[in-house]
Amino acid sequence: MSTNPDVKIYEYDAVIVGAGLAGLAAAKELTEAGMKTAIITKLHPLRSHSGAAQGGINAALHPDDSTELHEFDTVKGSDYLADQDCVELMCTKAPETIRWAERMGAVFSRDEKGDIAIRPFGGQSKPRACYAKDRTGLAVLQAIYEQAHRAGIEVYDEWYAADLLYKDGKVSGVAAYDIRNSKPAIFNAKVTMFATGGHGRAYRFNSNAHANTGDSLSIVARHGLPLEDMEFVQFHPSGLGGSGVLISEAARGEGGRLFNSLGERFMEKYAPNAMELASRDVVSRAIMEEVRQGRGVGKDGQSVNIDLTHLDPEIILTRLPELRELAIAFQGQDMLKEAIHISATAHYSMGGIPTNINCQVRKSPTEFVEGFYAAGECSCVSVHGANRLGANSVLEALLFGRHAGENMVKELQEGNIELRKATVSDADTMLAEMHKLKTSNGTERVPTLRVELQDGMTKNAGVFRTKESLEEQITLIDNLLERFNHIRIDDKSNTFNTDLQEAIELGHMLEFSKFIVDGALNREESRGGHYREDFPTRDDKNYLKHTYAYMDKEFNMTHEWGEVVLGKFEPKERTY
Ligand SMILES: Cc1cc2nc3c(=O)[nH]c(=O)nc-3n(C[C@H](O)[C@H](O)[C@H](O)COP(=O)(O)OP(=O)(O)OC[C@H]3O[C@@H](n4cnc5c(N)ncnc54)[C@H](O)[C@@H]3O)c2cc1C
Repeated sequence: MSTNPDVKIYEYDAVIVGAGLAGLAAAKELTEAGMKTAIITKLHPLRSHSGAAQGGINAALHPDDSTELHEFDTVKGSDYLADQDCVELMCTKAPETIRWAERMGAVFSRDEKGDIAIRPFGGQSKPRACYAKDRTGLAVLQAIYEQAHRAGIEVYDEWYAADLLYKDGKVSGVAAYDIRNSKPAIFNAKVTMFATGGHGRAYRFNSNAHANTGDSLSIVARHGLPLEDMEFVQFHPSGLGGSGVLISEAARGEGGRLFNSLGERFMEKYAPNAMELASRDVVSRAIMEEVRQGRGVGKDGQSVNIDLTHLDPEIILTRLPELRELAIAFQGQDMLKEAIHISATAHYSMGGIPTNINCQVRKSPTEFVEGFYAAGECSCVSVHGANRLGANSVLEALLFGRHAGENMVKELQEGNIELRKATVSDADTMLAEMHKLKTSNGTERVPTLRVELQDGMTKNAGVFRTKESLEEQITLIDNLLERFNHIRIDDKSNTFNTDLQEAIELGHMLEFSKFIVDGALNREESRGGHYREDFPTRDDKNYLKHTYAYMDKEFNMTHEWGEVVLGKFEPKERTY
């Protein structure tokens, strides 16, 4: 294959892809330790989806609470699939992480005594979500970004990372291009980290930003590396009826009640104790069941009502102002005066790039890739198992991002790692992909294929799944993968070519979606966010295991199972 002499070669100690909370926290640690660090991001860091987190970040700060209780709630919420060593690390270090974020400048809301205020979230036995009104993610992201800047991080923003440099079990950086002018570059590094966030855009009805296209999942998988537990997708109970835009769990935490079209507070049937504050998977299934039984509200009967009108308006105005604005803007409904329409929306990826407790990426359940780390939503360290608790994910991104940074520093200080000699030909795979997409002259269009994928994922691999629906979705994805070979994009230029970027992203979405569906087909049980109507109960005997899935060049899938790290909490039936 020809090589392109215009490929620029950069050399760093560490390269991080992604500038959300996980990427920035790692970059800050590395830069402060004197490591030459580049952070590559397709968006400006402050536009990362972390900034959209509304509701909170968990830590057992209150004297009534304990880290052990936080651990228990997390493991129970995970339907016992979380690795308990990782959960223990996360919950034990959570209070210190909040104080660290505060020292960085994140201003949290306060209670009457002046302490950090906490609010209840679903599936948790104590209120423990710390928050900054309903703009928690932005408050923390801004603070970490400022401090990372102060430490001197080098940001390549509006750069798209398209390939991993992986050879002989070792990663030595990435290939990326500048979105402004399509100029390619090799980022050669001693250690590399992926922190690219979630993949919710694979679903039609979702709460995620446009950029959440799960790029790194398929970039990793294209090198024959595994993805873990991809069948576990979280559907959040409260997306705004028509759009899926998120109304944070804080709305239920502050006292919001759910009603069907008959005015019944239906959670009484599904979770008589926890009611609206049962775990997310439980509430989402309850909502969709009411809709299926014809008791939905809204134009198409596809939503239910959340009512906050009984609350003191001050609570809404001071603690949930953004949620109110969103419901007015997207739906013309004012939660001060009326109930608003919500429905279950694709929200979060529990699965991802498998890592150990130190965020080192796994090549198989028992082997590691050298020089490669991942943290945040794109990774699966597995603290969330089959279902994530609200306010545990900002915590995970921040805490494990920082932890990955510390471990990379350690490896760089101890390891005597030599920088591999990069050559311009390292960009060939990326350049070939860009060239093919730009010159392909078929009749298929990117937006059409994307909508077909998203509609199918919501319908066939959503809250409820069966063998038939999943098989239908596999057939659909295979068909879309074939049609993807015949697309045509109109913009052939090199300047801000968003047509090209969207085509590359669609390629990623098609590929990792196959992992979601195939994993769901393979797992003949129901656990957490994965609900098989044909196998409605949890089956610990056969499936208390992590899925490791691999894809070959022809998009065929294979699997093996990985051990779950159990611990002090024995698997029990999960009731709320
Ligand atoms: C609406 C909403 C509300 C939420 N509320 C909460 C909450 O209250 N509490 C909670 O705990 N969790 C919440 N979450 C989940 C939580 O916000 C995320 O899981 C977490 O912030 C992810 O952080 P991250 O650093 O992994 O990724 P992100 O913040 O998503 O950042 C990803 C980064 O990767 C970059 N990137 C991606 N692909 C590429 C590529 N190919 N090349 C270059 N750069 C790339 C992007 O530019 C971006 O900088 C919410 C999520 C949503 C969608």
